[in-house]
Order: sequence, then C-alpha cells, then structure tokens
Amino acid sequence: MKVVLKNLTKKFPGRDRKNPADVIAVNDFTFEIPDGKLIGLLGPSGCGKSTMLNLISGLQKPTSGQIFFGEDDVTELPPENRGIGLVFQNYALYPHLTVRKNITFPLENLKGKDKLTKEEMNEKAYEAAKLVQIEELMDRKPGELSGGQQQRVAIARALVKKPCVLLLDEPLSNLDARLRIQTREEIRRIQRETKITTIFVTHDQEEAMSISDMIVVMKDGILQQLGKPQEVYDNPINLFVAKFLGTPPINVFDGEVKDNKLYIGGDAVLNIKGVSNQKVYVGVRPEGLDLDEAGPFVCDLTGVEVMGRDISIISTHKASLNTTVRSIASTGDTTAEVEGEQVRFSLAPHKVFIFNKETEERIAFVAEVEQ
Ligand code: ADP
Ligand code: MG
Repeated sequence: MKVVLKNLTKKFPGRDRKNPADVIAVNDFTFEIPDGKLIGLLGPSGCGKSTMLNLISGLQKPTSGQIFFGEDDVTELPPENRGIGLVFQNYALYPHLTVRKNITFPLENLKGKDKLTKEEMNEKAYEAAKLVQIEELMDRKPGELSGGQQQRVAIARALVKKPCVLLLDEPLSNLDARLRIQTREEIRRIQRETKITTIFVTHDQEEAMSISDMIVVMKDGILQQLGKPQEVYDNPINLFVAKFLGTPPINVFDGEVKDNKLYIGGDAVLNIKGVSNQKVYVGVRPEGLDLDEAGPFVCDLTGVEVMGRDISIISTHKASLNTTVRSIASTGDTTAEVEGEQVRFSLAPHKVFIFNKETEERIAFVAEVEQ
C-alpha cells in the first residue's frame, strides 16, 4: 500500500507561561512512500519521528494536512480502521498472557463477519509466529523470553492481522548490540517476504542505512532529505545531513574558497571551479583522506587504531571543528605505515563537500584534477 503525506503538520500548544511557544513536531511534511518498500525515518531524538508515526497510525490527529493510504484519504479514520501494525521500543506485551494469547489479542475483538473461531485465531497466530521464528515458544509467558524474543512476539502481533502498513518505532533500542544487528536483518527479511509497506523509525543512522530502501532524514520536524541510503550519503543536501550520516562521522573544517582554490586553514587542498570567493565549511568523509607523502593537507598525528580490515588514522588540525580528524585506510595499503609527528593527505574530490557558512546548504563545485 502506497502512503502519501500532504503538508502534514502537528503543533503542540505551549504548555504554560514558562513555555509559551508552540512545538511544531511535524512541519509541513510532504512525501510519498512507494508500495512495498521499507522506509527508514531518521533523525535525532526529539525531531518528531514518533509524532510522525502516530499521525500515520491515527493515534494522533494532525493540526493540518492529509494522509492517504493508496487513493483513500485516511486522515479522519480511527487507528483500528486503518489496517496498520504497530511495534514500539518497549514491546508492550501482556505479561500474564502466553505468547499465543499475546499474538491473537488483536484478533479477539473482531466482530460480525470478521469474527474468528479459536482454531482460526491460533492458526493465524502460528503463521505469524513462524514468520518471526518463535513458533516453539507459543506456551511461554513474556517473562520467560529474552528481549529479542519478546520483540519478535510484538512483531508477530503486529503482523497477525495482515496489516497493509507496518510502523516500527525504534524497535531495536532495547536490545544489545549483537541482537540489534540480528533482529534488524530479521525485520528486513520479513519485510521482503511479506512486501508490507514499512516505516522504520530510528535515531541510529547505521541501522537506517543498512536496512532501508529509502531513508528520510528529519530535523526539528522538517524533512531535510530523502533518497536511497547511498545517494543521500554521497550527496548530502546540507551540513546537518552530512554530519548525521556515516561512522566515523564526516570531518568538518573551517575553510575558504579563494581564486579557485579550496583552503583548509593555510593548506590549499583542492583546485575547484564554479564557486566565488567566500568562507565555507568543508566536510571530508574519513575515506576521502588518502595518505600521501606529497599530499597538500597536513595534520598532527595522534595515533592509529586498527579495526579489523581497516585502520583509522587519528590526527588533529587547527581548522577542524571536530576534536579529531579521522581517516580510514585499509590494512593492505602499503602506505599505511604511519609514524612521526605529522601526517599528510590528499583529498578525494568526490568525498569533499563544501557548505555555505550561513545557511549550511551544500555548494556545488567542479574539481580540477591535477595533471
Ligand atoms: P522523536 O520521536 O523524534 O524523539 P517526538 O515525536 O517524540 O520526537 O517529539 C517531537 C517534539 O514534540 C519534541 O519536542 C517533543 O517534546 C514534542 N512533543 C511530543 N509529544 C508531545 C505532546 N503530547 N505534547 C507536547 N509536546 C510533545
Ligand atoms: Mg520517538
């Protein structure tokens, strides 16, 4: 089911005299979620992700704007009539009920022609449980399950009515690192198998990048950018998006464009065309700093970290806005013997972004390759 949001806005009125200003949790959001895709809704805590999900589910009413499921305007429809499945961070299972009963719970209240017999309910519960691989645990109570298993029960419960849209609000946040990775792959598999249009909310960029067909980055209730994860990573629209995506994070420097050269501090690091003289922010992805004895960019070496396949070179630079400058090289790299007080890099132009100092919007440039 395609989901379309049109100028969707949610304002929360100021609470009291101390906090008189309205909070605009979701601010004029317009976009279309294609049928059968997994969308990662991504942004820092407090940016409006849960509010957005609550609007789509119908748990909250928008201040203005519309929501369509397919061609149908569902803006005024109560949650139970929208055909959605919901999963939250804190599994929200009934502790005194078995796994089976927890999963059949949404089926118990079906009325009239939709009413199911006990056998039919158990069959549907078994199907959903099988999908998330907990069919062996049907007679246990939530207290007898691990966190990862409990979240699977919650997912099975969300799937049992065959929703047309599945909404997941930070579903992995309560799990430890290893289970998080395992469960996110599981969610990906289930989504591929069922082809249910899914919106996955997270503040963890790596999580969103790894499983989403498309990511939507938001900040202060405002949509910043949407696209395929790699496209957004390679072409961030502004400094916020560039900084939000990537581990280790992008290196940001105070810089300047002067007479077709890009400077970081006193170092002329690239020849570029198409940008007038101005002070800028320069962002360089860690994989865009190439070790190069003759490179133009000189940093003070702090140390080297070996992280399995990669090595991370940690240095400092007086124009850096991050406390350290990080670059990534592979251990097979012959130049990876790093010693001494200084380290020199050349910059890979497609890993370098420059941003307007006031608006923080990205400025396009053409790099001139050295002869
Ligand atoms: P996220 O899920 O991205 O962390 P939320 O959607 O929960 O963000 O919140 C977005 C903003 O709206 C925050 O500033 C939050 O304080 C505010 N907010 C959320 N729910 C309410 C509410 N019921 N009343 C007032 N303000 C709210
Ligand atoms: Mg939230």
